[in-house]
Amino acid sequence: MSQNKVIIAGGGLVGSLAACYFAKRGWIVELYERSPDPRKSDSNERITRRSINLAISTRGLSAINRVDPDLKKKVMDIVLPMYGRMIHDLDGKLNGQSYSPHGEFINSIDRGLLNQILLTECEKYPTTTIFFEHSLESCNFENKTAVFKNIATGQDITASADLIIGADGAWSTARRYLQYSTRVNLEQTYIEHAYCELEMKPKNGEFAMVKDHLHIWPRKTFMLIALPNLDKSFTCTLFMPWSKFNSIKTEEDLFKFFEEYFPDSIPLFGKEGILEYFKNPKGPLFYVKCTPHHYKGNGVIVGDAAHCTVPFYAQGMNCGFEDIEILDTLLVEQAAPLVDPTDNEATKDVKTNRLTNSQIEAALIKYTACRPRDSASMIDLAMHNYVEMRHSVSMLSYKIRNWIEKK
Ligand code: FAD
Repeated sequence: MSQNKVIIAGGGLVGSLAACYFAKRGWIVELYERSPDPRKSDSNERITRRSINLAISTRGLSAINRVDPDLKKKVMDIVLPMYGRMIHDLDGKLNGQSYSPHGEFINSIDRGLLNQILLTECEKYPTTTIFFEHSLESCNFENKTAVFKNIATGQDITASADLIIGADGAWSTARRYLQYSTRVNLEQTYIEHAYCELEMKPKNGEFAMVKDHLHIWPRKTFMLIALPNLDKSFTCTLFMPWSKFNSIKTEEDLFKFFEEYFPDSIPLFGKEGILEYFKNPKGPLFYVKCTPHHYKGNGVIVGDAAHCTVPFYAQGMNCGFEDIEILDTLLVEQAAPLVDPTDNEATKDVKTNRLTNSQIEAALIKYTACRPRDSASMIDLAMHNYVEMRHSVSMLSYKIRNWIEKK
């Protein structure tokens, strides 16, 4: 039997981690990414468009660790730990709320840098080829072929493989073609809120606020949050209803809005920082739940392609990374039935590159039995957590202050 080959459409966070896993397990890997190589010049713009930084938690780090503990070390070198929330009240009072009494934390990480690390990692394997500026145009899950457009030349190429993985993000082409192959139940919902990012530059060469917390300005129906970056800046994200964004038309409207709701942030941003509001895009927020995630032993969708979420639980990428860890576990279970597939040490040298189509199908059936359900729960938690972040945390902050004042 010859060595298996996988086509991965989308070299974002989840697709590039998937490439690392399949290459490690001995597959021939072809990774196709629509954007240019982010490691060259400043072509990073497209990849970072969805958010400059994000929170990576144990769920995501576990998936990185399983593929290679040294890779996890490289990732941990570029994170900033956040031990709790720092609530900014309307009157400028700060209230720290630890995530855990045991010192547990989540980590702020630069999306572009993480993507670059993963791309470099998967290229370490001689069986991996990355095709940048190749866009998935169509996909035939029945005969395991996919058509990609070479953006530079305009030419279409047809690639075939034993397995096709759709990791092409929230507006996935692979997901659309999966619907043509099988009966996919799909729910897509836009929420009334949108987001806009602003940069808070360092002050006198230092972080403008404490760096080891996720900052939140909860204002009931909307909120501003800030995550620290390695260059001592913060990336701040304003989440609020489209109607509120649309009501801010002039500089005067904008400064009035900041004075009313985020007065303590004004000296931290400076006038220029606040005015970025007009330059920066306002992004829609939506979620997608769908099932099944696979077709026969031929193809599967992962990451946002399978379960795009609203970002309030900071688990979109983390959950996408977990997809890949679980997919790997299920394929390992087929290749080495006598080994505990979840034992990283025992499975580290297992190869899955000679599985038959029916073995791959057996793994994918199990995959669809758990992932759509789990990711749908994650989406529900994220919807719930928006209310928690923009409103309930301030109630908690108010109660704690009252309690301290009474003592
Ligand atoms: P993407 O990152 O979207 O990557 C898809 C890749 O596919 C891209 O590189 C794209 O160029 C490429 N592509 C698209 N179409 C094609 C095509 N036709 N052919 C070839 N390539 C294609 N998650 C967290 O875990 N923690 C957070 O703190 C967090 N914060 C967020 C904040 C905001 C404001 C937003 C919007 C999202 C946040 N997320 C967070 C969610 C996270 O961004 C996504 O879950 C994650 O990016 C999904 O990774 P992915 O690889 O599946 O998709």
